[in-house]
Amino acid sequence: MFIKGEWCDAAGGKTFEVTNPATGEKIADVADGGQADAARAIDAAHAAFAGWSGMTAYDRSRILYKAWELMSARQADIARIMTQEQGKPLRAAMNEVRYGADFLLWYAEEGKRVYGETIPAPRADQRFIVLHQPVGVVAAITPWNYPASMITRKVAPALAAGCTIVLKPAEATPLCAIEIFKVLADAGVPEGVANLVTGFDPAPIGEEFVTNPLVRKITFTGSTETGKLLAKGAADQMKRVSLELGGHAPFLVLKDADPVFAAKGAVLVKYLNSGQACICPNRLFVHRSGVDAFTEEFVSRVTRMRAGNGLDDGISIGPLVNEKAIEKVERQVADATAKGAEVLCGGHRLMEDGLDRGHFFAPTVLANVTPDMLIYREETFGPVAPIIPFDDDDDILAMANDTHYGLAAYVYTQNLSAAMRTFEGLRFGIIGINDINPTGAAAPFGGMKESGLGREGGHEGLGEYLETKLGGFSV
Ligand code: ADP
Repeated sequence: MFIKGEWCDAAGGKTFEVTNPATGEKIADVADGGQADAARAIDAAHAAFAGWSGMTAYDRSRILYKAWELMSARQADIARIMTQEQGKPLRAAMNEVRYGADFLLWYAEEGKRVYGETIPAPRADQRFIVLHQPVGVVAAITPWNYPASMITRKVAPALAAGCTIVLKPAEATPLCAIEIFKVLADAGVPEGVANLVTGFDPAPIGEEFVTNPLVRKITFTGSTETGKLLAKGAADQMKRVSLELGGHAPFLVLKDADPVFAAKGAVLVKYLNSGQACICPNRLFVHRSGVDAFTEEFVSRVTRMRAGNGLDDGISIGPLVNEKAIEKVERQVADATAKGAEVLCGGHRLMEDGLDRGHFFAPTVLANVTPDMLIYREETFGPVAPIIPFDDDDDILAMANDTHYGLAAYVYTQNLSAAMRTFEGLRFGIIGINDINPTGAAAPFGGMKESGLGREGGHEGLGEYLETKLGGFSV
């Protein structure tokens, strides 16, 4: 762990094992921190707040810029560690490290643009001035699926805003977090400004984050279930919350779309990270006129994908994170087939060629998926693509919006007004139009409905770490 500028063990001296999800092998022992460690880290962040928030934005920017340089220089090493602890293919890990580093660079710049406002006041002898100030100590909790970029997406804007931070990474992927904190330390982030608490059991650390009055903001990326728990806890002290939660993205292929082009995009985004991304499509709605061509192209691409250890060449499907993830996918596939879905490829766990040592599931395509199936409603977080034909473009908005999630959605069409109407009508926070990667450090990322609160990235992402203060002056 990294607390008050020093690498340290857990207060109780305990450690936990980190394993490689592709091979089941232990790769490291990491400090198993708990509530007392979280409290110590919060104290350190609190003590550092006055100094860090009192520095000029230019000085903070120089440190973030240095962190960007170091993370970029170390990208190959960090990517290798990521593939070992998380499983994604090495090329995908490199992409993630670069995406993660982008946040450091972008917020190094944006931190200099926390402008205030003067507002015409109702009285001649009055002036209104608006300031933005850092919220204070931030507690951050991050997931295992993007173990580097989800950290910088929180740490970079928090530090740029002048906040100090305590971060708890996911128990499956603490090693990437450790690498990023080495970057921050080497870049010159002062003592106590950024603290890392690792632990196997998240609950006591989360409890300290929620109940400790020194924490003024909770930022979380993970499941909707845990997000709700944290938001309820945070409500007691009215701490600020930003939540980036689950999704159930619809992928719409409208009547006039090119179904083969759409299928190419759909495969890339569905099997991203083996389906373990909150923006992965979970319902592929394809107009009946194009469904055969779409399905043929889709299946032919999926059957060419190779599953295996992400350090090996030519691998596009890595393991799932753990056995629970395999069980969830197996349950959804069994439920769908029992209710009439057809398995076009995959549909089972992979056990041959040593894959039984890891948590591998074959990339799977299901046809004839209907609304009564679990997979139609429940987030899959695995490599299963449900194809749902539809007959009328006019019905599709209602079908796509029929979910309590609202994170990402995708539309394929060559008709400009259909593109605009669906862009405006979809109740989702991120819409790709003939585009499968509508993300970037400068762009606001986040969801509507039960997919979360707030946005990360872009100038909105910086606003999440700032309070607004109005001054009314009599002159
Ligand atoms: P998933 O089911 O995808 O692992 P989680 O929401 O459980 O999603 O995990 C995301 C992050 O939330 C991880 O860092 C995990 O340790 C953390 N987490 C899980 N449960 C709690 C909790 N009760 N309090 C605080 N953090 C938690």
